[in-house]
Amino acid sequence: MNSKETKTTVLLQHHLKALKLPTILSECEKVAARCAREDRDHLSFLLELSELELLERERKAAERRLKAARFQMLKSLDSFDFRARPSVNKPMVLELVRCEYIEKRQNVLMIGNPGTGKTHLATALGMEACARGKRVRFWRVTELVTMLMEAREDRHLMRLRAQLARLELLILDELGYVPTSKVGAELLFDIISSAYERTSVIVTTNLPFEQWTEVLGSERLTGAVLDRLTHRCHIIEMKGESYRLKQAKRRRAPLGGHL
Ligand code: ADP
Ligand code: MG
Repeated sequence: MNSKETKTTVLLQHHLKALKLPTILSECEKVAARCAREDRDHLSFLLELSELELLERERKAAERRLKAARFQMLKSLDSFDFRARPSVNKPMVLELVRCEYIEKRQNVLMIGNPGTGKTHLATALGMEACARGKRVRFWRVTELVTMLMEAREDRHLMRLRAQLARLELLILDELGYVPTSKVGAELLFDIISSAYERTSVIVTTNLPFEQWTEVLGSERLTGAVLDRLTHRCHIIEMKGESYRLKQAKRRRAPLGGHL
């Protein structure tokens, strides 16, 4: 490499860094050599480099969105066995993957016994939304309520609410495992109310609607929550027994067990 080339390379590296184009920086020499070999023109060289930069940016943004969503487990739709849960309307789920419900600010409610795949399916829909550029956050309801109560005590409730308001999809997992306190129920109601027609919400629960009062404590609050959540809502019923239990039974059966 002669001194002119060295100077060009050094300056180019500096400029690409200043312009925050790390992929072009790392790939330009390789791509330039290949384009020269293949006798491609300058514009096609530039196009290839800018495409590489864009792809890498999108990949990183998707990674950041996935991290920010704080899923408790990473579960895809591919690994969801629809045959094992025939009550789930597969065409409806495949339609939801397209995320139009998020653009229309609609909600999804998943109701079923423990182990029927609610968290799995909610996570899979959330991951799909992340992949399509949506801002998603996954919460276990109990954790969200604890966080809201702490934020209220520490006087940063407004900040937490503002963070939640920036989301496009809020996943509230396991509504109903622990009855929330009156304050907790009201804080949760406040989040659901604020999300109404602004942020899509996916709620998973093991409770039929009649029992929601037990969690939220008051009929007035339950009525108001249900009213907001079920307006423009897709309901997915996960009927039957736990997926793992069913699998365990199937595994044991040939050994003579009759569990
Ligand atoms: P729930 O939230 O309804 O209690 P989970 O989503 O936590 O149930 O499911 C329990 C376990 O069973 C998870 O490991 C999940 O991946 C698996 N599972 C449940 N249903 C299915 C299914 N239909 N296909 C594949 N795995 C499933
Ligand atoms: Mg669950």
